[in-house]
Amino acid sequence: MLKNDGIISPEELSPVVPPADRLARGPVAIIECLQDIPCDPCVSACPVKAIKMKEGITDRPLLEFDTCTGCGLCIPKCPGLAIFVVNMKHTPGMATVSMSYEQLPVPEKGQEVTALDRSGKDVGKVKVVRVVNPPGYDHTAVITIEVPADQVNNIRAIRV
Ligand code: SF4
Ligand code: SF4
Repeated sequence: MLKNDGIISPEELSPVVPPADRLARGPVAIIECLQDIPCDPCVSACPVKAIKMKEGITDRPLLEFDTCTGCGLCIPKCPGLAIFVVNMKHTPGMATVSMSYEQLPVPEKGQEVTALDRSGKDVGKVKVVRVVNPPGYDHTAVITIEVPADQVNNIRAIRV
């Protein structure tokens, strides 16, 4: 369960963050869904069946880190906006974080936006490097931003 402030602590986050050797191999999802809620569209969204719920729909999603390809198809299907894809192989010293974005205006590729941590605190300017927003995503765009590698587990939202 989450703490009362709703912000995931490092201890709670630890099991859902892929191990260093998997992160080093390239894009992989981080599913920050830590509550037992009746929800499972992430499971059927994954084309390689990397997301499992052993106890049924109210269980928490478990990601098989080595099966996940980092494709990001699960990101817009999560109503809780709880799924991220990180890529530690972006460029030397820099990583990317992909996330859902449901507000308007949707930022454009190349645009500078403000990165926010889980508490909504401003942690600096970052560049949008990819925007995926097809009609099938139903107004949930997937935004990929370029971030310093040491911020990959800290930045979790943007402000346009
Ligand atoms: S990023 Fe792609 S492969 Fe990984 S869990 Fe999501 S849908 Fe599956
Ligand atoms: S779709 Fe999102 S909120 Fe629902 S179980 Fe999966 S990760 Fe959690």
